Amino acid sequence: MTEIEKTEIIAIIDSEILKLTKRIEELKEFTDPIAPDDAIGRVSRMDAINNKSVFDASMRNIQTRLEQLNQILKITHNADFGICAKCRQSIPFERLKIRPEIRLCANCLKK
Ligand SMILES: [Zn+2]
Repeated sequence: MTEIEKTEIIAIIDSEILKLTKRIEELKEFTDPIAPDDAIGRVSRMDAINNKSVFDASMRNIQTRLEQLNQILKITHNADFGICAKCRQSIPFERLKIRPEIRLCANCLKK
């Protein structure tokens, strides 16, 4: 990987982290504890609980991805960044641009 490519990947990771952080802020409004029955009525409380589990699930997904991106950001300066952790082949640049947090090449991922 060239230095220019590496800089581009780091910029992609940075903007992705920013995007996910904003999304978490938005989701926080929906994942707050739900008010008791008498406050909002039984039916709407059921709706609120259903919606909450959907939002909780996407919140967890986003947090996991955010962690992965933060981890990968720490190792972007390492010589083995962009190299498959298993077979030591270079991971194609186009692939890293889409999923910068991946550590395996397409072949090893399939196995
Ligand atoms: Zn591999």
